[in-house]
Amino acid sequence: MSEKVNVANIDLEAERKEILKRYRNLLKACKRRLEKGDKQLIRKAFDVALEAHKDMRRKTGEPYIYHPIAVAQICAEEIGLGTTSVVCALLHDTVEDTDITLDDVRGMFGEKEAKIIDGLTKISGVFDQKTNSIQAENFRKMLLTLSDDIRVILIKLADRLHNMRTLDSMKRDKQLKIASETMFLYAPLAHRLGLNAIKTELEDLGLKYTENHEYVDIENKLKETEPERKKFISKFILPIKEILAEQGFKARLYGRPKSIYSIYNKVRHKGVPFEEIFDIFAIRIIVDTPLEKEKADCWRVYSIVTDFYHPNPDRLRDWISTPKANGYESLHTTVMGPEGKWVEVQIRTERMEELAEKGYAAHWKYKDKDGNERENQLDEWLRKIREILDNPEDNALDFIDDFKLNLFAEEIFAFTPKGDMRTLPFGATALDFAFDIHTKIGEKCIGAKVNHKLVPLSHQLKSGDQVEILTSSKQSPKEDWLTYVITARAKSKIKNALKEEKRKISEEGREILERKFDHQKIEFTIQNINDFQNFLKLPSAQELFYRFAKNVLTLKHIKAWQKEKDKPSKKTGKAEPTLEQVVKETRGNKASDDTLIIGDNLTKIEYKLSPCCNPIAGDDVFGFITINEGIKIHRVNCPNAVQMMSNYAYRIVKARWTNQEQISFLAGIKIQGIDEVGLVNNVTKIISSEHNVNMRSLSFDTHDGTFEGTIMLFVYDTQHLTELMKKLRKVNGVISVNRINPN
Ligand code: MN
Repeated sequence: MSEKVNVANIDLEAERKEILKRYRNLLKACKRRLEKGDKQLIRKAFDVALEAHKDMRRKTGEPYIYHPIAVAQICAEEIGLGTTSVVCALLHDTVEDTDITLDDVRGMFGEKEAKIIDGLTKISGVFDQKTNSIQAENFRKMLLTLSDDIRVILIKLADRLHNMRTLDSMKRDKQLKIASETMFLYAPLAHRLGLNAIKTELEDLGLKYTENHEYVDIENKLKETEPERKKFISKFILPIKEILAEQGFKARLYGRPKSIYSIYNKVRHKGVPFEEIFDIFAIRIIVDTPLEKEKADCWRVYSIVTDFYHPNPDRLRDWISTPKANGYESLHTTVMGPEGKWVEVQIRTERMEELAEKGYAAHWKYKDKDGNERENQLDEWLRKIREILDNPEDNALDFIDDFKLNLFAEEIFAFTPKGDMRTLPFGATALDFAFDIHTKIGEKCIGAKVNHKLVPLSHQLKSGDQVEILTSSKQSPKEDWLTYVITARAKSKIKNALKEEKRKISEEGREILERKFDHQKIEFTIQNINDFQNFLKLPSAQELFYRFAKNVLTLKHIKAWQKEKDKPSKKTGKAEPTLEQVVKETRGNKASDDTLIIGDNLTKIEYKLSPCCNPIAGDDVFGFITINEGIKIHRVNCPNAVQMMSNYAYRIVKARWTNQEQISFLAGIKIQGIDEVGLVNNVTKIISSEHNVNMRSLSFDTHDGTFEGTIMLFVYDTQHLTELMKKLRKVNGVISVNRINPN
């Protein structure tokens, strides 16, 4: 967000004054919680950031330092964070954008601060990638490494909020990208953390830049209807206010419109016209009452409200006895107001109000009183996120979908027979519940009793259900279970169990097949298994074994395969075409390119690159004449080469590459090193700056400070690959770079 601008016309003295003014405002926002030495720390961070960013300006032309100050201000004022976070917010862009290093931060401030800044620097790299799959994978990694210290996510949210507030100065395409990313990831994250005010603002701003027309339309209609709404609200509030005062309550009452985004959603997704949305605003009654009287007092207020207005019994929500998983507490009711209009009334205490607006950060503040349980809820949330992360699906995008599903869905709560409450996403089934309790219970689940009635595994649970899971030691996970569950946890546990189950059965099938081959005097070699598998058009040998174990495939199929061969020889039953035959057969078919010369000078022969060693142009290769698939090209150092060359020397043909055409080959690289700041970024930068290289997939793992990355990419030949690997070896922190087999 920064660039150099011409500073000749800027009044630097006035600017300096403005910077100091903003800094003092920040201190004011921190004041409530400053302890001894804190002020000096904040000053130090401010001085460091000011110096580091001194030559940088924002797109608006303003001094860059306005941004970190504003982010720190949001942390202190709107999230309620303390000195460490304010310090880190001030420094949050220094390591990425200036000469300051992580070591500098560690030396000047400490280990804790360095860790947080490291996390913040790493996330910013994550979202600059171009393709979805990388983004999703990195998003997973971000949460994995960052959930150590939730402050990283909170400061990042503050950073994003300020960027959204100042999005006007960005170019249209950047606006769109940042706004949609905000709605896709940051707003749900804020919601999940219980940061309602920030979530709402992010959504509204997101809408403003993605669907500007609709946004402005609703904004105008809200303005037009404001006087009418105000009149209605004061009329509604008046009698309640009087009684509350009479009974000695210290209370604030006000009506406030719902967010533009939530109104937009109703108009858009439920097809309700603006004029007919009855809950465009809600009445909020906030009482100032000590902790021990909170619940009783909220219900007293409820009683007063319903003395005047008749409540709709279906729309009573008691989030005080059972807070939402994100910590939200409040009592909601919908009553029949004047003029026969339904009105939503939200009753809560000042403490609950602060929690609702600022979320978990505010919880920390209250932890001396009864914070223990809330601390646990935050831990519980982080535990769940970790579980999802530790068990990533093969496809990182699936993970995002599951994750989002769990984020967006309304929650239900159900009880164990002993009365423990479990929170699950809306739509969760008895089987989800079983897996939520324990993997073993899920895997052995045969049914459940919900409120003492027997139900199937797929039974959808409702809030308040009491669920007793029935298990049997004979039970094991089934394929169709995947359609019964909606939680990411249950899905991944079932998939794992199925994979394991299939692997075991395939092992048995392998032995079965080996015996059958033996009987038919067929050698049990990789080549024969491959031929048979190809004959049956199966995707893998495992699938072949599995089907034999399951009796789907039998001796009949082996015989059919043998019969299919041209000239069954006495010994092995195999027909082995000569090179001339292959050439004759494949000529006239779709001719392949001239990249490879086979035999003495043959080109235009159909060949396939063998998946077992995945040769690329430039590798030392040979051709192997197969029964059904023409010539297959292997690397000379292929793990199967020795076996092929020793057993079937007569089927080997020479092959070498020409260097005419530019065709890409898939290759894999493994990178190992020390997890340093910017390492992932530098590695991806090098690869994407190579204009000839196309990355197919990328995954990184860090463990106790070490780093391992696997990259699949398309290259032209070995020279191309070798050069790239040479460059990667020069990246700071990289220890080794090796070529690996893509499979
Ligand atoms: Mn920033």
